[in-house]
Amino acid sequence: MKSGNAVLSSYGTTIFEVMSRLSDEHKAINLGQGFPDERGPADVLEVAAKGLLEGWNQYPPMMGTPDLRQAVAAHSKRFYGLEVDWKSEVMVTSGATEALAACLFGLIEPGDEVVLFQPMYDSYLPIVRRAGGVPRFVNLRAPDWTITREGLEAAFSPRTKLVLINDPLNPAAKAFSRAELELVAEYVQRFDAFAVCDEVYEHLVFDGAAHIPLMTLPGMRERCLKIGSAGKTFSLTGWKVGYVTAAPTLLQPVAKAHQFLTFTTPPNLQAAVAYGLAKDTSYFEALAGGLQAKRDRLSAGLRAVGFEVLPSAATYFVVADIRSFAARAGFEGDDQAFCRWLTAEGGVTAIPVSAFFVEDAPTNCIRFCFSKKDEVLDAAVERLRARFGAA
Ligand code: PMP
Ligand code: GLN
Repeated sequence: MKSGNAVLSSYGTTIFEVMSRLSDEHKAINLGQGFPDERGPADVLEVAAKGLLEGWNQYPPMMGTPDLRQAVAAHSKRFYGLEVDWKSEVMVTSGATEALAACLFGLIEPGDEVVLFQPMYDSYLPIVRRAGGVPRFVNLRAPDWTITREGLEAAFSPRTKLVLINDPLNPAAKAFSRAELELVAEYVQRFDAFAVCDEVYEHLVFDGAAHIPLMTLPGMRERCLKIGSAGKTFSLTGWKVGYVTAAPTLLQPVAKAHQFLTFTTPPNLQAAVAYGLAKDTSYFEALAGGLQAKRDRLSAGLRAVGFEVLPSAATYFVVADIRSFAARAGFEGDDQAFCRWLTAEGGVTAIPVSAFFVEDAPTNCIRFCFSKKDEVLDAAVERLRARFGAA
């Protein structure tokens, strides 16, 4: 029998699915896969429900509904001062995942080099490879995950077509500094490349910091494709509504890929996201503030049971170094084994950070998701305390 595509067949099931199923099996508290456990903003849900029952439920325009494209452009202006022409520079996708695939399929020619930062989100590499791209990795290291000139120097070449950057960075919970972004911008321009910017966590930034889109740096407006996700911005990860903003010449080839991938996205969800993006700035501040409190709550709890907890400046996540906890609990093994063991023995699920690497992975870090009800976070810490004791 002939087999399926070799690149895609070489991958197992994603770590998020694997750990969620294992967590269910053990009736563990699932702080693995990144999703909130609340219902999401009631007014946004209301618009979606009304749209479903009373609105138009046939194919919306391929580029997205005018309402949502206008809302994405207005959002870019309000938060980042970016002037965006909604007609030629915004496209709606079925989640950031599809936006990423459309960008990569739309821009990569077989043999093009693609610069990727490790840790990297798990959908990046399979699509880069399936599109014929040749990955060149820049490894970032805990606890600072700093982008250095040496790292970029080694990865960029005249064959570099694009760099794919996730900022804020899952799972590291890092928001890159302006200096780091300037470095990336310098290399992108020097090698005449593009930047696909996965900014799905743009509104989940803590401690009063503001997200800086790479697109806003000098010389980068025409070179960046900025990707956002309603899943993260409205705590509705199942909706899968994403949006790409880019100069028309960059967006056009990406739209060609999109038209053959999904073509369009449910109209009621587009209406609701358009409504949501226009919400008062206080909504976005409360979102970040609420998550920041959860970050602090879980971080303190994890420290109290003996984890070394790394800084978390953004996202749904906090990374913990397992070494001191493992030594005290008598566990030996890497982060993957640790996460399976913690699920089975401790009743709490996390994600091994090595799953975000394909080479030179650290094996001592795991990722906890804190976008959960306070009582769930407390119950997770209490389980660990009851089973393994306080530090
Ligand atoms: N990029 C990153 C870094 C993510 O963490 C996620 C996950 N949720 C996505 C993309 C996918 O976003 P969406 O659900 O909108 O496809
Ligand atoms: N982005 C989510 C995470 O990092 C997972 C999304 C998925 O399960 N595909 O946990």
